[in-house]
Amino acid sequence: MGFIDDVMKNINQGINDIQNKSQDVMQQVSINARIRSLEERKQQLLVNIGQLVYDKYEKGDEVSEDLLREKVKELAGLERDIEIARQELATVKVDTDAPRAQKAAHSAGYKPTPGFTCPSCGAPANSSKFYCVACGGALKETKEGTPPPNGASTQNFNPGSTEGTQTD
Ligand SMILES: [Zn+2]
Repeated sequence: MGFIDDVMKNINQGINDIQNKSQDVMQQVSINARIRSLEERKQQLLVNIGQLVYDKYEKGDEVSEDLLREKVKELAGLERDIEIARQELATVKVDTDAPRAQKAAHSAGYKPTPGFTCPSCGAPANSSKFYCVACGGALKETKEGTPPPNGASTQNFNPGSTEGTQTD
């Protein structure tokens, strides 16, 4: 209920987020490594099949149909494994998604000012912005006495327009 409770809640939530995130990052790294090695094997196999086909038709070497079929089957299996790994990677990525506003802000190059946090929710915030990307709360008191337009771009965070909203 109290302010300190809220702060503690946010800190604990932040720690949990970091722990979950680093686990997910490690999972992503290992899936990416798996995809890379599968892709490498696929490339090797493609070269191998190409060589066999070349030997068979150009050099007239004895290359059995069964061998080619076997290689193609292996290639198809690799393709499937790669596809599965990609889907797996996509699920991990979805799970790590920050709240949409924060994600949009982050991808737009929004950087929190070190040591500056939102007075409403305690999330790291950029001191040059008017609104918190996490909760939409006001970050600044307007000294000119003109309150910022109500509800301005708190839902749809729109970087670049925040500074220029005052002019028509
Ligand atoms: Zn906030």
